[in-house]
Amino acid sequence: MPRSTRYVWVALMLACGCALADVRALHERLIVLDSHLDTPMQLARPGWDIGQRHSYADDLSQVDLPRMRDGGLDGGFFAIFTPQGPLTPEGRTLASEHGLAVITRIRDMVAARPDAFALATRAQEVPAIVASGRRVVLISMENAEPLAADPGRLATYHRLGLRMLGLVHAQNNDFADSATALPHWHGLSPAGRELVQAANRLGILIDVSHASDAVFDQVLALSSAPVIASHSGARAIGPHPRNLDDERLRRLAARGGVVQVNTYASDLVPRALNPERDKALAPLYREFRLAASLPPAQVADLARRIREAEARYPLPATSLDDIMRHLLHILDVVGPRHVGIGADWDGGGGVEGLRDVSQLSQITARLLAAGYSEQDLADIWGGNLLRLMGEAQAAH
Ligand SMILES: [Zn+2]
Repeated sequence: MPRSTRYVWVALMLACGCALADVRALHERLIVLDSHLDTPMQLARPGWDIGQRHSYADDLSQVDLPRMRDGGLDGGFFAIFTPQGPLTPEGRTLASEHGLAVITRIRDMVAARPDAFALATRAQEVPAIVASGRRVVLISMENAEPLAADPGRLATYHRLGLRMLGLVHAQNNDFADSATALPHWHGLSPAGRELVQAANRLGILIDVSHASDAVFDQVLALSSAPVIASHSGARAIGPHPRNLDDERLRRLAARGGVVQVNTYASDLVPRALNPERDKALAPLYREFRLAASLPPAQVADLARRIREAEARYPLPATSLDDIMRHLLHILDVVGPRHVGIGADWDGGGGVEGLRDVSQLSQITARLLAAGYSEQDLADIWGGNLLRLMGEAQAAH
């Protein structure tokens, strides 16, 4: 552990009157879930084995079995993420094929290691899986575009294990407007409204992260089940349009919903426009998204070039303090029964000092130091997410 981190630990232990071993032991007792893992993108890389230990420095990956065990991460929602393509018949067909390929990849990961992973399709299955020492795999979708060609396919995805549906990503799609695009539908499209109702009928949670404010409002009014934001922050702390303002946080909680706090650096702290950085990094990030087709040596080289470019055009430094500012603010606004963690691992999440899932107990230590109880921590790390899953199941 670097010296600076050690000082923080010492200060925390003094503050909460507990030893490092106690924090670890408490963290291990909890069911620790993350509601937004982009790890299926890593699974596409030839030769990349989730059972082996990797490092962020070598290949920018943040989740594998050894590091999940180190960080006490019992599992989470593995996302079927689809980059938004053109809203054309060809674009819809491509998205549809992509979605089915990714859910197959997730299911194959579980099938290949039945000793290490188990797919959960009901909230009540989760504690037994955790008790058995296996990791819980839940399946979500980030961007519903794979359903645009045939929304009826939602039932197929449900049979394959889909239990959470994020309507939209960084651009508008056939169902909804994005938080980071100019309004097109001014909320949900007619197909988007039908999709929300279909998800309700199947017991699939609706995820409003990345959705515009208008979509958020319309989903909240329309959904028969409580709603989740699987990886979002507080707009009062970081004024990014992806983040939720206090009034919306309160309404989400009042309807029984949960906000899972994100660690995506540029959403955590405001960043000034930096066109040189964008110009240098955009082609590298594009290459990285295609990393599935690259051999490991080329991935390592790409990781090195990305690190160099990021260092040449640095963003404001972000640390665990920034994550905690969002987390503690949201806790203040809605209370510990409506907050969780969705850190966007393998999708751009993580900060200096918390670069992968192996260090999650640092968040537990900070929450204890802030005065939250073991029961609060149990709710925040997994209890709230499972309660919401159960309520979505019951509502259909
Ligand atoms: Zn995202």
